Amino acid sequence: MRSREGFAFASDFDGTITEKDVAAMLLHEFADEKWLDVEEDFRNRKLSCRETLKREFELLQGGRQQLIEYVDRHARIDPNFKPFLSLCERRGIPVRIVSEGLDFYIEHLLGKHGIEIDFFTNRAHFENGGIRISFPNSSEECDDCGTCKLQLLKDWKEEGRDIVYAGDGVSDICPAESADVVFAKGDLLSHFRKERLDHIEFKDFGDIISEMERW
Ligand SMILES: [Mg+2]
Repeated sequence: MRSREGFAFASDFDGTITEKDVAAMLLHEFADEKWLDVEEDFRNRKLSCRETLKREFELLQGGRQQLIEYVDRHARIDPNFKPFLSLCERRGIPVRIVSEGLDFYIEHLLGKHGIEIDFFTNRAHFENGGIRISFPNSSEECDDCGTCKLQLLKDWKEEGRDIVYAGDGVSDICPAESADVVFAKGDLLSHFRKERLDHIEFKDFGDIISEMERW
């Protein structure tokens, strides 16, 4: 199944590389509870991912330092992720993170674990005691998501690589449907099961390593 140019691996961050969704953790702890109404509208498809993110994070109270301290106490990176990166390095497989989360905690968690990897996500600007979100990786053609994960696979596709994708959420459906191999859990798994699309169920990067060692 491997193309001449080989594989390239794109992974979601929250709930995929981390054990829990860090953005959701922060909203539960620090946001005005109106965020749950916004989330409900998103679940009922009344709001796009991008609009949801913008509205939810505007309800977040707390400075950068306070949020980072909380992340440090409660967020955990999958311990299998670093061994996974080593495997990809040995195999010459490029890896990038494509995320609908926020830059400040992703950068912090990766730095804390000494993980050097390209990541593409939304940007948080701490201003006047609140957070404003900007979308440096959005698409000009589609306003569904903050970060257009599909667009971030384009260069690899043009190189003729086979795309491997790992994710757990609604924002992973679009890029995963265009990937060649999909590792799925959570909402992404439910969608792939419902639509009867090829996928590999996974719990953590240990499962991904076991599968990739057979390739
Ligand atoms: Mg996720």
